[in-house]
Amino acid sequence: MTGTGEELRESGADMAQHGGRRGWYGKLVGAALGVTLLATGASVWTAQAGAVDGPSPKATASATPGSDVKPVDVTIAHASDKGARGVNITIDDGPDPAWTPQVLDLLREHEVKATFCMVGTQAQAHPDLVKKVVAAGHQLCNHSVSHDTAMDKKSQAYQSQQILDAERMITEASGGVRPMYYRAPGGAFTPYSRKLAASRGMRPLGWNVDTKDFERPGTDAIVATVERELPNGPTLLFHDAGGDRSQTVEALRRILPWLREQGYSSGFPVR
Ligand SMILES: [Zn+2]
Repeated sequence: MTGTGEELRESGADMAQHGGRRGWYGKLVGAALGVTLLATGASVWTAQAGAVDGPSPKATASATPGSDVKPVDVTIAHASDKGARGVNITIDDGPDPAWTPQVLDLLREHEVKATFCMVGTQAQAHPDLVKKVVAAGHQLCNHSVSHDTAMDKKSQAYQSQQILDAERMITEASGGVRPMYYRAPGGAFTPYSRKLAASRGMRPLGWNVDTKDFERPGTDAIVATVERELPNGPTLLFHDAGGDRSQTVEALRRILPWLREQGYSSGFPVR
């Protein structure tokens, strides 16, 4: 099972661009599998009541970004703060004026909270969308300035600029709400980048299920991947930018009610 998970990740849209990354992913997937397979309870979908109990972006907002930053763990998070029956919907590469509003509408309709991994320049270009994401109770995640999937091969100075500039761009666009996570583009983390992000209160964030929506495999294929691979772990990867995301939107329209029927709660990645 872990082998399947690794292959899925390796062949994903982001991963395919740099490839060859194994090791801790496999271990973490294994750990996530153990947790998920223990989940047999008939819990109910608690997004409606539970989501508002989750960590509030407002609670950690700072009028002067950086003044109240608390370091977090440097390891790559996969688990859900809703526990074994939680699912973390993560939406990458936006915000985008064509697709982010459609995704936000669906999330609201199905009372699901998500984590938006934003590219710094996208956030800077669309601060209205960043503010809408925050106002709807979703979490922000730093996805670097330039989405350079070879970032792990670059200097520490470059990695630092990519992470800290994006942090500033996203925080300014949101009106002071800081990103709580850092997801390296294509998963191109380094020990240095994880440590830097964690020192700034941004938990490194991985994923368990790559829906491959970025490759536009068809709505049915995206839905089938989620249904098949959810036992790999709770963190699902989608995109709301980088091209025509109509398949992603249609897939979410089917996946969100399906998750509810299966007894999953929408949560945020652990910090
Ligand atoms: Zn990305």
